[in-house]
Amino acid sequence: MVGLDNAGKTTTLYKLLLGEVVVSQPTVGSNVEQIPYKNLTFEIWDLGGQANLRASWAAYLRSTDAVVMVVDSTDRARIGITKAELFALLVNQDIVNVPVLVLANKQDLKDAMDMAELSQALALHTIKQHDWHIQPSCALTGEGLLDGLGWIAQKLK
Ligand code: GDP
Repeated sequence: MVGLDNAGKTTTLYKLLLGEVVVSQPTVGSNVEQIPYKNLTFEIWDLGGQANLRASWAAYLRSTDAVVMVVDSTDRARIGITKAELFALLVNQDIVNVPVLVLANKQDLKDAMDMAELSQALALHTIKQHDWHIQPSCALTGEGLLDGLGWIAQKLK
């Protein structure tokens, strides 16, 4: 699970795992968290401004079965950075053909970008080496999260 800081990754993950919203502080000094759940291990990465960390990605990517990109749908100012980070990740040969789920999070907020605007801003139609899917979500209520995971599950069959 990847995304810029404040996208809603931590909220999404704990909503999925515990069915509740936890109040988390931004993690300082650690940019990768690993969380085991049933037969899966979720790894959450904060992207953005952390190019120096990319060298260490490779080890994680080798065991990656799916990528979930969490996007703050209201963050128009940083949507370009989100796109750049997504494409920087997807060029990695270790994740060729891995399905990519974009969670268009914070859809409860009235100025949220819709799926058409986000798909365009993220140039999702230019992704050729991955199956991708964009799913509207609200991590606070959990709306859309299981639908998103369902899409991944069906791709991994
Ligand atoms: P992370 O840095 O990507 O892990 O982001 P967090 O999960 O810490 O969330 C950042 C902030 O956005 C927190 O204040 C969350 O409560 C809030 N947030 C997360 N998801 C949503 C959502 O779907 N809607 C709204 N309105 N706020 C959200």
